[in-house]
Amino acid sequence: MAPDVIVVGLGSMGAAAAYQLAKRGARVVGLDRYRPPHRYGSHGGGSRIIRMAYAEGAGYVPLLHRAHKLWREAERAAGAKVLTRTGGLILGRPESPTVAGAIESAARHGLAHEVLDADEVRRRFPMFTPGDGDVALYEEAAGAIRPEVAIGMFLDLAAGAGADLRYDAPITGWRAGNDGVAVTTTDGEITAERLVLCPGAWAGDMLADLGVPLKVQRRIQHYWESGADEMRVGRFPVWIWESARGVVAYGMPRLSSPPGWEDLAPELVKVAFHTGDEPDEPGEILMPTLPEEVRAIQEWLEPRLPRLLHATWMFGQPCRYTTTPDGHFVLGRHPDHERVAVAAGFSGHGFKFVPVVGEILADLTLAGGTANDIRLFRPDRFRTVA
Ligand SMILES: Cc1cc2nc3c(=O)[nH]c(=O)nc-3n(C[C@H](O)[C@H](O)[C@H](O)COP(=O)(O)OP(=O)(O)OC[C@H]3O[C@@H](n4cnc5c(N)ncnc54)[C@H](O)[C@@H]3O)c2cc1C
Repeated sequence: MAPDVIVVGLGSMGAAAAYQLAKRGARVVGLDRYRPPHRYGSHGGGSRIIRMAYAEGAGYVPLLHRAHKLWREAERAAGAKVLTRTGGLILGRPESPTVAGAIESAARHGLAHEVLDADEVRRRFPMFTPGDGDVALYEEAAGAIRPEVAIGMFLDLAAGAGADLRYDAPITGWRAGNDGVAVTTTDGEITAERLVLCPGAWAGDMLADLGVPLKVQRRIQHYWESGADEMRVGRFPVWIWESARGVVAYGMPRLSSPPGWEDLAPELVKVAFHTGDEPDEPGEILMPTLPEEVRAIQEWLEPRLPRLLHATWMFGQPCRYTTTPDGHFVLGRHPDHERVAVAAGFSGHGFKFVPVVGEILADLTLAGGTANDIRLFRPDRFRTVA
């Protein structure tokens, strides 16, 4: 029997969508070119930050409330733990977009938070040495998510709800018409009523007709080994620091090592630059970490988290951002094909939203609309009027 829905891409967003669709009774076929979780897309590296005070736009906050609820529901359904509450610091000059935006978002939505001056940060979090004019927003609700565990959880839940998940199954094309949709695979064509496209870094090709100028960019996540108690969860929060306009770095406390590196050390501290502009091409080859990239992050850390440099740098793991010109997601019904829903362009900040994106994709596919406000993410917003 033909499926009701085909989900293409079973990474972060597709895994959650497959689960939501199957849970609601749809016959789902899910396809991925690899076997997620994997290291070639946007979800590798062992940890992702989740926070509420959202500098990227106060409009994200209602979705974050919903995402939190759905993360907890999924954890309960699977008997898994993917979220760790650590508290979170957002540091920088008070007028920097990262800090000012987070404070504005917290105020607008009445989120529990504190604004700390530099002395208070140094007193409460002695690992951090902000400059005298710096401030920080502290949010207790922030934490870390384990992306590979989360994707495994959603895929298990989806399979448990009856989804037919197929791996090492790249699709080479898709089409949609009045009667249904079809995707082409190396084994032939699969048809269905509806299609959900979540191709991550491969969206440039698969969603070329949307006219979104997506950029794929390589980012290195750096890992340090430290047994220091001051870097454990409970003493060391997740953090984001805008050090100069346009330069943003972030990091995590000691957490389980990313998959594949556990033999090296069971737990590692992570730091990475969020900003940067290194173009990349989707595919299995990701250029390994260069010595100058290690030097750059060490130089950045030296005045700000000097004690971290007492720890041992272990390795860097590359990963891919797929960014839109305005940094907002591409999420909604395909403007030309009402049977197709799309989720792409998560611009380096999508993971915390995974379960609510899954819900939205299932809503659009099975109910034709969603109660979540997704106007900011309109897939046709970059189309120019002829
Ligand atoms: C270094 C780094 C740090 C980040 N930190 C954070 C953070 O702290 N907090 C946060 O919220 N977000 C963070 N993000 C962003 C977040 O991880 C991404 O937004 C999210 O993983 C994107 O999910 P996706 O489903 O679009 O892509 P993916 O998870 O990569 O999934 C796409 C899937 O599509 C499959 N696919 C592609 N083409 C085809 C095809 N033709 N046929 C079949 N399958 C196909 C791929 O194999 C892949 O499995 C970070 C990202 C990176 C790279």
